[in-house]
Amino acid sequence: MTMRERGTENLIVAESLGKWYGEVIGLNNFNLEIKPGITGIVGPNGSGKSTLFKLVLGLIRPNAGEITVFGKKPWRNSELHSLIGFCPDYESLPADSTGREYMSLIGHLHAMSGAVLSKRIDELSELVGMTDALDRKTGGYSKGMKQRMKIAGAMVHDPKLLILDEPLSGTDPLVRKDLIDLTKRMNKEHGHSIIVSSHVLFEIERMTHDVALIYKGRAVASGDISEIRDLIDKHPHNIIIEGEGMVALAKALLDEEYTVSVAFNEGKDSITIQVSRPDDFFGGLPTLMDVTGSSVKSMYSLDDNLEAIFKYLVGR
Ligand code: ADP
Ligand code: MG
Repeated sequence: MTMRERGTENLIVAESLGKWYGEVIGLNNFNLEIKPGITGIVGPNGSGKSTLFKLVLGLIRPNAGEITVFGKKPWRNSELHSLIGFCPDYESLPADSTGREYMSLIGHLHAMSGAVLSKRIDELSELVGMTDALDRKTGGYSKGMKQRMKIAGAMVHDPKLLILDEPLSGTDPLVRKDLIDLTKRMNKEHGHSIIVSSHVLFEIERMTHDVALIYKGRAVASGDISEIRDLIDKHPHNIIIEGEGMVALAKALLDEEYTVSVAFNEGKDSITIQVSRPDDFFGGLPTLMDVTGSSVKSMYSLDDNLEAIFKYLVGR
């Protein structure tokens, strides 16, 4: 989905936004515009994702710059409470309450009651697939059920914007898929805008193509994920390949467009290759092995982690 299809109005605008915790930088000179739809906030631990959310929710006050949410400043602004739902990254369910009691409590906080609230609770439990577990205590829920109940709780008052702070962290692959599907449905079928954070880019890629990468308190890149992908692909990856026939393989690799350099590591059984487009390299390797008659015994990336990519992005 392109920016144009999503309309031009901004949900959130951050301008030279700064938030420090004493000497520690939460966000610094942070600039970002977020439009309706699903937006991913991706950055390593400690990059400032949760700080951004607390500023959006008006839970903390900026030290510098400005943030507006639905055109308003969030700090001490209760007007925004009805428009935003928040699903935190920490355990927030009261273990002794049932799912229904938990959702009722949240409804009451938003001045909902009676038949309207009951109907909403039923709808939401259906949506997140928790109908059968609604009258069980949340303390007995699995990690995935807890996550779905937290999301339902954040949506009781039908907010326009839902913020999910690292919803996939610590969940198994099946729960992940469930939560990714749920996120997409909440946007597509129910029209909620969603901001979702993660420290893993490929998880977010399954939910949205609109991503902001943040690192050390700054937005270092934002926009369509394919552009960010291009940036990431341009960051040279160092990969060590060990096996037989490495001389022939090295020669063949040098003819490939994605190869930046090839070097031998002590002897002729191990090479270090620097590639600009890791996907192309990994995709093309089996054919090159075939053609050159080489066999690869082991292969490992030296800097395939997000941290290295972010360092590269800020060092540009
Ligand atoms: P993320 O959510 O991306 O992991 P955070 O926004 O939680 O990042 O943290 C950004 C930086 O601010 C980190 O260095 C973190 O240690 C620091 N920080 C966050 N909250 C506090 C706090 N209440 N007191 C002191 N430092 C904090
Ligand atoms: Mg966080």
